[in-house]
Amino acid sequence: MADIRDRYDALVIGGGIAGMQAALDLGEQGFEVLLVERTPSIGGVMVGLNKVFPTLDCSSCICTPRMAESAHHPRIRLQTYTEVRHVEALGTGFRVELDCKPRYLDEETCIGCDECELACPIEVPHEFDYGLGARRAIYIPHGNAIPQKAVLDVEHCIFCGKCERVCPTNCLDFTAESRTVHVDVGAVIVATGFEILPMGTKPEYGGRLPNVMNPMAMERIQSSNGPYGRVLRPADGKIPRSIAYIQCAGSRDRSIGVPYCSRVCCMYALKQALLLRHYIHDVDVTLYYMDIRAFGKGYEQFYRRAVAEGVKVVKGKVARVTEAENFDLLLRVELLDEGGRVDEHRYDLVVLSQGLIPAWHADGIIDIEEDADGFVHTPEIKLNPSFTTMPGVFVGGVAAGPKDIPDAIVEAGEAAMAAANYLKRFRWRSRTPAAAVAV
Ligand SMILES: Cc1cc2nc3c(=O)[nH]c(=O)nc-3n(C[C@H](O)[C@H](O)[C@H](O)COP(=O)(O)OP(=O)(O)OC[C@H]3O[C@@H](n4cnc5c(N)ncnc54)[C@H](O)[C@@H]3O)c2cc1C
Repeated sequence: MADIRDRYDALVIGGGIAGMQAALDLGEQGFEVLLVERTPSIGGVMVGLNKVFPTLDCSSCICTPRMAESAHHPRIRLQTYTEVRHVEALGTGFRVELDCKPRYLDEETCIGCDECELACPIEVPHEFDYGLGARRAIYIPHGNAIPQKAVLDVEHCIFCGKCERVCPTNCLDFTAESRTVHVDVGAVIVATGFEILPMGTKPEYGGRLPNVMNPMAMERIQSSNGPYGRVLRPADGKIPRSIAYIQCAGSRDRSIGVPYCSRVCCMYALKQALLLRHYIHDVDVTLYYMDIRAFGKGYEQFYRRAVAEGVKVVKGKVARVTEAENFDLLLRVELLDEGGRVDEHRYDLVVLSQGLIPAWHADGIIDIEEDADGFVHTPEIKLNPSFTTMPGVFVGGVAAGPKDIPDAIVEAGEAAMAAANYLKRFRWRSRTPAAAVAV
């Protein structure tokens, strides 16, 4: 892999679906793009999802072609496992400081054969499966990772040397160090996405109980390449026969600093619930909700389909979740359609539809403003939705606020177009015209 050059047209921060789309749109227009992702693989949240609403397409099947296209595009330089440390505005353009973390191997010669992973004796909870499965101390991030290169987790490595002995290309380098790299770019697109609210945020919902699940972990459990290969509950490996979803478990709640609607929770919960009805014969799945917000194209129809196929929806305010015997869960709920009658139900599994929060903050890194909720501020939201408070810096995807995949893609495309116009206006060139023609 060629080394990072010292000048690009645009920097895209974040290699999720929004960042990849922005990079590809700019690359297709002839701009040279540096796409920086802080984890060892691009793909963001989407590559770990099971299926997507409302079409129920396999998420990784439609995401991986975009990942491959981004990685192999002649005008996109992909830089994974790298953090942006600082972005400084120059007269024209920006000077960027990058922190390239070491994988402790030579990326050029690693062939992604997996031999090191198979030889490693250490097992660690796997981030990709939200801690439900295990990975080794040296590992390829997941089956669809791009690049398919191993990464060594030095915090857990015992330096037994087994990986080094089996490596067919002799690519390991335990002495590697972080590299600081400086790059000049003409424009920046922030596409740093989201994470979900930590599970313990509302202790009354039992977020720390083993059978109270995170919706991202449920995506992995439902995936055919997930940690169990089928839907089992984490505490004891039992097939769950009754499952409750608690909607707005961490959204529309000023008490926890998340006053906004996270927009995708109703739909992902309906999607997961419908799929559970397909995966587990006669399973009882109930969604406890305040309002169902099925706002997108085909979404209302999807909601009707889920209900027609046996998903129960109950307008109710869950007061608390406690553990009963055998890791079962007791859910105490105020039934809003029954005059506020309080009821108690026992479930095998509970999923908390947690809200979305920003995965990254600009503070001290780049001088753009954020909204009170931490998402990137977009002062011209109506007419120029990707503009930030700094000229030349644009935003796309969930970094600007919660949204689904189609909206993230559309917004990232708008950010790329705005960046292209900006670069043309200021006649920014990452290469001399002669060099650009030679590419
Ligand atoms: C449980 C669940 C299920 C969902 N199901 C669906 C569905 O079926 N259909 C649908 O349309 N939507 C669904 N969504 C929403 C969907 O996941 C998002 O719309 C989409 O992932 C947004 O993409 P993004 O690129 O904006 O963010 P992300 O996917 O979060 O990608 C951001 C990327 O930026 C990287 N990054 C962050 N900070 C930095 C940094 N400082 N430097 C470099 N890189 C950085 C991250 O590592 C990540 O790779 C679901 C969401 C959840 C929580």
